[in-house]
Amino acid sequence: MNLNKENITPMMKQYLDIKKEHKDKILLFRLGDFYEMFFEDALIVSKELDLTLTKRASSGSNTPMCGFPYHVAQSYISRLINRGYKVAICEQVEDPKLAKSLVKREVIQVLTPGTFTDPNYLKGGENNFLLSLFIKNNSVYISYSDYSTGELYTTSKVFLNSDNLIKFFTDEYYRINPSEILINKQNNKKVVNAIEGLNTYVNYIDDFSYDYTVINEKNRFLINKDIIKDLDALGSKNLVNDFSSVNILLNYLAETQKMGLNHLNSIVYYDSDKFMTIDENSRQNLELVRGSNTGSKSESLLGVLDNCKTSMGSRELKKWIEEPLKNKEKIEYRYEIIDTFIKDFILLDKIASYLKNIYDIERLSVKIAKETVTPKDLISLADSLDSINKIKEILATCDYKIFNDLSDEIEPLSEIKSRISEMIMEDPPANFEENPFIRTGFSEDLDQLFDISSRGKEWILKLEDKERKDTGIKNLKIKYNKILGYFIEVTKSFTDKVPDSYIRKQTLVGSERYFCIELKEMESKLLTSREDALKMQMDLFNDLRKELINNIHNIQILSKAISKIDILASLADTAIKNNYVKPIINNNGIIDIKDGRHAIVEKSMTDERFIANDTILDNMDNMIHIITGPNMAGKSTYMRQVAIIVIMAQIGSFVPASYANISIIDKLFTRIGASDNLSRGESTFMVEMKEVANIINNATKDSLVILDEVGRGTSTYDGISLAWAIVENIAENIKAKTLFATHYHELVELSKKYKSVTNLTIEVENQEDNIIFLRKIVEGYSDNSYGIEVAKLAGINESILNRANEILYTISEDKDIKILSSSGSIKQESLEDPAKNKLISDISQIDINNISPLESLNLLNKIIQEIRKIL
Ligand code: ATP
Repeated sequence: MNLNKENITPMMKQYLDIKKEHKDKILLFRLGDFYEMFFEDALIVSKELDLTLTKRASSGSNTPMCGFPYHVAQSYISRLINRGYKVAICEQVEDPKLAKSLVKREVIQVLTPGTFTDPNYLKGGENNFLLSLFIKNNSVYISYSDYSTGELYTTSKVFLNSDNLIKFFTDEYYRINPSEILINKQNNKKVVNAIEGLNTYVNYIDDFSYDYTVINEKNRFLINKDIIKDLDALGSKNLVNDFSSVNILLNYLAETQKMGLNHLNSIVYYDSDKFMTIDENSRQNLELVRGSNTGSKSESLLGVLDNCKTSMGSRELKKWIEEPLKNKEKIEYRYEIIDTFIKDFILLDKIASYLKNIYDIERLSVKIAKETVTPKDLISLADSLDSINKIKEILATCDYKIFNDLSDEIEPLSEIKSRISEMIMEDPPANFEENPFIRTGFSEDLDQLFDISSRGKEWILKLEDKERKDTGIKNLKIKYNKILGYFIEVTKSFTDKVPDSYIRKQTLVGSERYFCIELKEMESKLLTSREDALKMQMDLFNDLRKELINNIHNIQILSKAISKIDILASLADTAIKNNYVKPIINNNGIIDIKDGRHAIVEKSMTDERFIANDTILDNMDNMIHIITGPNMAGKSTYMRQVAIIVIMAQIGSFVPASYANISIIDKLFTRIGASDNLSRGESTFMVEMKEVANIINNATKDSLVILDEVGRGTSTYDGISLAWAIVENIAENIKAKTLFATHYHELVELSKKYKSVTNLTIEVENQEDNIIFLRKIVEGYSDNSYGIEVAKLAGINESILNRANEILYTISEDKDIKILSSSGSIKQESLEDPAKNKLISDISQIDINNISPLESLNLLNKIIQEIRKIL
């Protein structure tokens, strides 16, 4: 920016001083009723938001400028944040009327993607997380918080190398799906590359305090009771390090939000080892919370299971799905509640009808913390507390002990409910700063003040009537607005009847506005009593707002208790509607499913029926299933269905089957589909092999491994060899329960070598030129993938199909060609090999009579080397 410093106005100097502190943000500078932007900010914003770019000629140069009115700012800010900008709001912090010279301005809040709480920006009821990472050597500390709900979670882990560390935090990143990341500045190139590849808003924090007390000074923390135990178990003497990521996060929030951190008062320490490990590939492949094609919730497991009545319940259910439990008792506790709901569906219905009336009270916490909660919000809170109390009563008085205990977890905050109901009228106005909303009788003084002002209103109506009669202007009206105060409005057609005593104040297109002495005198009385009443009303309301701050934590605890009931009621409802069964949980390694179905596919089918299939997996004779069969037969669907049933069982849900006995799985791995990661310089095959390496390095005998084709991205021989060796390794060393679908039919031979390997295939019926998919999984194998038949179903034209059949026939007959897979590639052994030919020609040209014994030995050595190269 080119400025002539001498000509600079005081206001522009003020702007520049403030902007210096907020270089990386768009500075919204409040000028009267507008937010204005200058210089580069104006150029960016006018382009991004399609605003007119103007110029301000007060700083010695023509300063680019654009702006928007403050009362519509939210939607503009929302759009800027959505595009990844940070926005600093600079307000006038003193009354312009009282300011002696230039009005004082300060940045009162910084809005960023991970901290913005505007309802238009937040995606429905979903969480909006800000994540912070602290990485030191091979230790990673992760914290994440939703500023809108006040949740704050933290974890830490130590790794042997940075690759594993990166894998852990990227998996966590995708699970948490934050809008913004904070990370301590560092030199680890690999970490920086991984972070840059995450396609999110990243802030590098370089100068934060390591001092844990800094957090404590700003906030009162109620540390989750498990955390102390966990830290003890880690032998942690040093809270400072363990809370460094929390520290980064809270300092950033304090710096950006300036106030309103009171709802961040509890840290939940989580240990990812306590949940089933599911890496990001598997989450995506199994479509746990988002459909892989559209990215929409409705095509995911979450979409199928979520019949929650509250937003809090839906948010929490997403967490449950992403964190399947490994503790048998905890899982069975959830089953028992669902089972009781299903048995007493009248009670379930009753609870659901009250849940429906519960507002997102968890999200109110940020408004309470910032003291921006409105009377309408508080009435919603009071109504919600009413419904919650009803739920507590129902659960307390029913005949089921487990529900009576559940009722004890609900503290319905009756005192808050009474305080609100006593004070605020049933249907308070949205524009509460300008209108009465406190119940009559709550405060005598307030009633008196409003009484004067409302009697004034009666007086005005009488004056209006009198003036109409006196002037003969039938449509004369007395109106009020903030700028003019009270005035008399007369339409243009009657202005000739206006008496001389009226003083004209404003001319509009169709009317004129006037004062009269009588009205002016009454106005000052009216306005002062109204202003006094409104001020007193706000004082009383602000007292209540302050009182509520002390209850934020209780509201948060209550909202978690309600989410749990909501989720379990929802899972019961889903189980009834979708005909799910209660699983049995075992610890003896057996997965036995009868008539299992794919929860998502079966819901999406309209004209066909989903064919159910059985599954038996264990650590003995049914450890590894090699599944062969035609393309499109249903191999992937079958394998995914097993994984999804196991996940459902471990989140505590009933499952789509007629019987399910599930051994607790520690880690779930899937290798499905082919995708490259070109931005990280990885080809399709490289990505595939990295996924396999991850499985081999991390799977245990308690894991479930789903392999849908391995080795397809390379030559057939390399692919088969790799696939074969991988199965051998699982059978001999890892011993994880494994489902492996393949078109390498040679792999069925592995069942002869290992007792633990079984061959499965999916039945099809061959009718003339067509195949009919029966979708039934049976023991056995298929030596045909029917690739050409499936290509026909897909619409490949007939001449290509005929030619393909011809080639297939020829190469099958040709003795020199070995077909490894009709659907895979072929290796033509008879084709000329230049290296081999050259070697043969070199040998044939050796003149045996003209070389010495030493030369012949050297030659022999060379030939051996060449042959080894070819082999
Ligand atoms: P490919 O080898 O070509 O990858 P595949 O054998 O893995 O094929 P899937 O992708 O699992 O086949 O299934 C193909 C389609 O068949 C699915 O999209 C689904 O609509 C349908 N399908 C699969 N299993 C069933 C089932 N059990 N009942 C009904 N329809 C099914």
